Amino acid sequence: TLISPNAPTAELQALDAAHHMHPFTHSADLAKKGARVITRAEGVWLNDSEGERILDGMAGLWCVNIGYGRKELAAAAARQMEELPYYNTFFQTTHVPAIQLSARLAELAPGNLNHVFYASSGSEANDTNIRLARTYWAEKGAPERKVIISRWNAYHGSSVGSGSLGGMKGMHAQGGMPIPDIHHIDQPDWWSEGGDMTPEEFGLERARQLEQAIEEIGPEKVAAFIAEPVQGAGGVIVPPETYWPEIQRIVKKYGILLIADEVICGFGRTGNWFGSQTMGITPDIMTIAKGLSSGYQPIGGSILSDEVAEVIAGTEFNHGYTYSGHPVACAVALENLRILDEEGVVKQVAEETGPYLKEKFEGLAAHPLVGEAKIVGFMGSLALTPDKASRAPFAADAGTVGYICRERCFANNLVMRHVGDRMIISPPLVMSKEEIDTLIDRAWTSLDECH
Ligand code: PLP
Repeated sequence: TLISPNAPTAELQALDAAHHMHPFTHSADLAKKGARVITRAEGVWLNDSEGERILDGMAGLWCVNIGYGRKELAAAAARQMEELPYYNTFFQTTHVPAIQLSARLAELAPGNLNHVFYASSGSEANDTNIRLARTYWAEKGAPERKVIISRWNAYHGSSVGSGSLGGMKGMHAQGGMPIPDIHHIDQPDWWSEGGDMTPEEFGLERARQLEQAIEEIGPEKVAAFIAEPVQGAGGVIVPPETYWPEIQRIVKKYGILLIADEVICGFGRTGNWFGSQTMGITPDIMTIAKGLSSGYQPIGGSILSDEVAEVIAGTEFNHGYTYSGHPVACAVALENLRILDEEGVVKQVAEETGPYLKEKFEGLAAHPLVGEAKIVGFMGSLALTPDKASRAPFAADAGTVGYICRERCFANNLVMRHVGDRMIISPPLVMSKEEIDTLIDRAWTSLDECH
């Protein structure tokens, strides 16, 4: 028999610890204290099994852009499950939700990004991108162009391919990553790595590492550069203004593909439909997931430019997932995009709640522990430091203060995440001004409690 959903929390936690392995978790440590059991959610609020209400400052994992509890999305899923719960798009068949969603994405995506290849997650989509970029060059008669350049501390997913693209050394240390022909350059994190340079000088220096890498590897061997418009899981690293224009110049000069990983930045998070628009870049391929369905269904994909799609269309691309273009996921994504559009959510982030959150969030820089508060749209980061002037890190045990702060937030019923000694937020895009005030109050109180 199944355990009752209303069983005492300790019993749920014990059964969870006995049988459920959590991602990115030291499971033995978690088992000692027990995972918090989330039972339901509405708007920007989570409920747990102890009856607590928790303000979700992370939109789940950066994905619930529309907020929780939208019945229209549940209805769209139910309708589609009754009509056609599944059919594949492999062998000369298609279906209406995939047709509609692809056309809608072509409308929303900037420039000539008009062709969608589906996956069920960002990791899968980035695996697709590795093969797409290399196949593109092979089809163009340059099969030696295989190297994909990425950045240290980037996050592009957790599969072997996408984890290799990412620059998380802790991930590379486990399980045989990175795969060959992936090269990493440094990230544009001025706060931690900028030294005496101005942010502008540093942005240029970091962008020019791309040119150096291309020259060292040999331009005839480089296929693509991949990056998040604003690094998310690496700690919400907002690049200096000089960074992206210089990157764009370099990829153009060498004719390599630019892949913008929009898994977090897409669908309104930065105040535009896509982070590429906020950063003023023109990618050849975009990775999408998360906010595409606001997390209500697992769906991701790659959006290809006309030029890339035309080349790929000239061969049989031997790649795909059983759930590529899953009809229920497509139907839910369509409904999510409809709401984001018709309720003006993206505009609201750009013009109303975004500027409000920015002002309040930047106010946290007045806290003695906070060196820098940076935010773009609805994604922000606090760099914690013992010495604001020198931007010094904490002496020992990097990440401990961040961890404690995150624990204090959680105890105060606010979900914020820590990445080392950065505290980050990525709230649902529908968070109201009043809820933003609550988020800021709880963040300040939690910071107070950890120094
Ligand atoms: N790319 C970026 C920028 C991400 O932030 C993530 C997940 O956080 C991924 C890719 C991987 O997506 P998924 O977890 O859906 O596989």
